[in-house]
Amino acid sequence: MANVVDTKLYDILGVTPTATENELKKVKHRASKNQINSTHLGYAYRKLAKEYHPDKNPNAGDKFKEISFAYEVLTNPEKKELYDRYGEQGLREGGGGGAGMDDIFSHIFGGGLFGFMGGQGGRSRNGGRRRGEDMVHPLKVTLEDLYNGKTTKLQLSKNVLCSTCNGQGGKTGAVQKCGTCRGRGMRIMIRQLAPGMVQQMQSVCTDCNGEGEVISEKDRCKKCEGKKVVKEVKILEVHVDKGMKHGQKITFGGEADQAPGVEPGDIVLVLQEKEHETYKREANDLHMTHRIGLVEALCGFQFTLKHLDARQIVVKYPAGKVIEPGSVRVVRGEGMPQYRNPFEKGDLYIKFDVQFPSNNWISPEKLTELEDLLPSRSEEPVISGETEEVDLQDYDAGQGSSGGGRREAYNDSSDEEGGHHGPGVQCAHQ
Ligand SMILES: [Zn+2]
Ligand SMILES: [Zn+2]
Repeated sequence: MANVVDTKLYDILGVTPTATENELKKVKHRASKNQINSTHLGYAYRKLAKEYHPDKNPNAGDKFKEISFAYEVLTNPEKKELYDRYGEQGLREGGGGGAGMDDIFSHIFGGGLFGFMGGQGGRSRNGGRRRGEDMVHPLKVTLEDLYNGKTTKLQLSKNVLCSTCNGQGGKTGAVQKCGTCRGRGMRIMIRQLAPGMVQQMQSVCTDCNGEGEVISEKDRCKKCEGKKVVKEVKILEVHVDKGMKHGQKITFGGEADQAPGVEPGDIVLVLQEKEHETYKREANDLHMTHRIGLVEALCGFQFTLKHLDARQIVVKYPAGKVIEPGSVRVVRGEGMPQYRNPFEKGDLYIKFDVQFPSNNWISPEKLTELEDLLPSRSEEPVISGETEEVDLQDYDAGQGSSGGGRREAYNDSSDEEGGHHGPGVQCAHQ
């Protein structure tokens, strides 16, 4: 939460997003996020509101409005989230106020000078028009799709300006500023709690539902019912190009929701690569594991592989060349195509899992024959002095540690050592 795009509202109340977050952490288990926020911010707010209340301080001007606005946003979890993530634009789009809230916005955020932060990073105001939020959707693709390229159709529902009323909500001139809230969309009520102590409350204007404007029933557009926009089903043709990567974005400029006076944002599709059962991608290379037997590892082999474009490719390895277990070989040019240069391809790396034969797979006599064929043993070390022979036992790493057993063995031997004196002494007696 400390990573907010804008801090103006925090500054107004003299708190920092980080401080709020720390405050949250300290008492997280005791109360919900919202309660803490209101406690912490509430203190700052009450202090400032007292100081700048128009009754007490007629010269404070808009300061009181600013404080109230900042408090209202930061104590509303939804608005706070929008503001932290998207700054001023988030509030405008997220219903931080109707059209009537423009004056407080421009007052706090500095009107046309303020650069809007879009959901996908900064983008500045275009010719004075506000820019709507981008609509971001994930798009799942297979590795085959990314290898071969793919065209797919995507159906989505979005808001478009009502064509009947040209996005006005009614006949020209039918839209009137709301008289109750004077176009603000919000009403401010001041309640006296005790002498010298007032509570100021803001609520959405019920006459205009926070829109700041009203359209009389008879002049209201029949098609959009005065909403200015209607839902429309849109079909987008999406081209996934060869070599595109997980996380890559495909953008359709200006295709997001339309709203009056707003330049529509983009529809952004983010590619999500599904896991493949054979291949793993790393940049433009492909990686896979192939299992072979000991005979293949020693005597050469060939096998076929179904590639991502369904080609059967034959992989050959000559007799006389050995594959060590776990070693890797490469097939040049059989990786992923390069994005925008699909004739250039990465490489295919194959890691070999060598399966050894199981116990007693061959008779002892045959083994002697095999030994004659295999490379000769390294010379046995010369054994001199006192030695002790031990057994090598099967061990399964999955069966847990043998630490407990080892400790037991150690204890046993020390017990034995202690016990030696006993029998020794007894012997002497006998
Ligand atoms: Zn309409
Ligand atoms: Zn109103």
